[in-house]
Amino acid sequence: MSEQAVVDNLEFARHGAVLQGELAIAQLDRLQALLFSSQGSLNYTLSGKTGAKGESLLECCIDGRLVLQCQRCLEAMEYSLHVVSTLKVVKGLTQFDDVGDEDEAVDSIPASAAMNVTALLEEEILLNLPISPLHALGACREQKGAKSVKDERTNPFGALAALKGKL
Ligand SMILES: [Zn+2]
Repeated sequence: MSEQAVVDNLEFARHGAVLQGELAIAQLDRLQALLFSSQGSLNYTLSGKTGAKGESLLECCIDGRLVLQCQRCLEAMEYSLHVVSTLKVVKGLTQFDDVGDEDEAVDSIPASAAMNVTALLEEEILLNLPISPLHALGACREQKGAKSVKDERTNPFGALAALKGKL
């Protein structure tokens, strides 16, 4: 249903092409498990570039708001997404053996005549999300129930003692 943008990534980079658009958050399958709500959309710009050494580069910029789920209280947590990443398009990535001296900040992706833009952007979003999103300390809703706080107070050294016993 959604138009899947597909590009020849090597040609795209060489020609300095630019693709701008909106990504419906609901269409990003791999992201859903991390989301509290899948409403809304993200803006993206994919730009083709040629690096100083003649490398074929893709620059991804993704902006928008995601509603993640706080891993402490399981409530909604707004997250401002701002991704800027540069990827190097490499022909025959599997045989590529000259990665050693390159700066680690630039990831490589295989050259493809039919690269799925949405899949690439989704991957970049996933790489840039916090592994365990949490509200700032004290900002969680669970304060109302205050159960866990009480437990900790009852025996502050209980956990430590238990740990020591195991060593
Ligand atoms: Zn929370």
